[in-house]
Amino acid sequence: MHYLQQILFVITLGVASYLIRNRVVRIKSNINLGKSNEIKDRSSDRLKNLLLIAFGQKKMFKRFIPALLHFFIYVGFIVINIEVLEFVIDGLLGTHRIFAPFLGGFYNALMNIFEVLALAVLLACVFFLIRRNVLKLPRFWSAEMTSWPRLDANLILITEIVLMAAILTMNANDQILQTRDDHYVATGSLFLSSFLIPLFTNLDTSLLIVIERFAWWFHIIGILAFAVYVTYSKHLHIFLAFPNTYFANLKPKGHINNMPVVTREVKSMLGLETVETPSGEPGRFGAKDINDLSWNNLMAAYSCTECGRCTSECPANLTGKKLSPRKIMMDTRDRMEEVGRSLEKGGPGLNDGKTLLNDYITKEEINGCTSCNACVEACPVMINPLEIILELRRFVAMEESGSPAQWNLMFQNIETSFAPWKFSSADRFNWASDNK
Ligand code: SF4
Ligand code: SF4
Repeated sequence: MHYLQQILFVITLGVASYLIRNRVVRIKSNINLGKSNEIKDRSSDRLKNLLLIAFGQKKMFKRFIPALLHFFIYVGFIVINIEVLEFVIDGLLGTHRIFAPFLGGFYNALMNIFEVLALAVLLACVFFLIRRNVLKLPRFWSAEMTSWPRLDANLILITEIVLMAAILTMNANDQILQTRDDHYVATGSLFLSSFLIPLFTNLDTSLLIVIERFAWWFHIIGILAFAVYVTYSKHLHIFLAFPNTYFANLKPKGHINNMPVVTREVKSMLGLETVETPSGEPGRFGAKDINDLSWNNLMAAYSCTECGRCTSECPANLTGKKLSPRKIMMDTRDRMEEVGRSLEKGGPGLNDGKTLLNDYITKEEINGCTSCNACVEACPVMINPLEIILELRRFVAMEESGSPAQWNLMFQNIETSFAPWKFSSADRFNWASDNK
């Protein structure tokens, strides 16, 4: 029986590892569709952000209650993984609670901590489910939160509740079995699961073993299925929020990257630099599709938690414009996935006749942006939707001359009068003149 379980476990682990590996390779190559962008500066500031904002969840705490509950889930996820390690070793070797004899009393303390965390995770998930589905917090029901993003969030919350319940059920049965069967190693009393013991204590030993084994298998298959599922879901942020925070844009908010080609051209017009005509195809101004964005913009799209904090702070969205910075990130990720799936099947990939601009994100959306950076400030994992919006707008303005007519007038004025207004630059101090 143990050998059969070991064989089944090796097969389950092998299938899950294979699926996860394939997805990791796909996600990596999707991110690599973006332009290269070497980020090697300010490594100590980046490390600080990684520790405070990703590990410490600092920006989450701007909204205290959800942050605290999210913190339980986050700590629970990290710490309970130590138990998963024991599950994996037990599954491979056919042992039961292999760490217990080595850790002695510490094992009991560890298991009690896991149980407290399991209960905290369970309660936090119940709270989040109620908040999403009963209280219907508006940011979880806005236009881009169609049925799939809503289902995705609910599925994960329900899965976590069931997985945590399975741990507590398994521990309750295990404690009874420790008094009846030598195979079940003594763990010492486990406080929280002890409350469930009266539910099972009158059952036959064979039935208890079935329940304990079922809970064990349910938990480990659930964890492995969760690990595969996460790679298709917004919950990828549990891994990518860390590199995303590290590689986030550290320039002051409001700084807009120059385009080196344009800078060189302007300097040459002013006689400040001699420009040699570059060989090969001229690059594209701005971004029309995902391959015009940088790899870190694309990684940010995979890191988005779909929390909607950005959209809830966006003045354009709040005043009824069509723009939602969360949708910008979700659309970028969806386009990456579409191109990736096409390439996987040997299809046209980026040449499928679609583009991020127009097929996913409309001009009306990007034109609604005031470049205020409120979305950047609000994001708990340092995503910058504005960078993508600005690149798309650059493309529309410079490659298509497709900006609204009023903007084109402003562009002309800046070009000729060095100011947005239609006055000669020589008249710029007239406002201070006594002869106005
Ligand atoms: S920068 Fe644009 S998208 Fe971001 S909050 Fe401001 S208006 Fe909204
Ligand atoms: S961009 Fe940031 S704030 Fe906006 S939904 Fe994604 S994670 Fe949340």
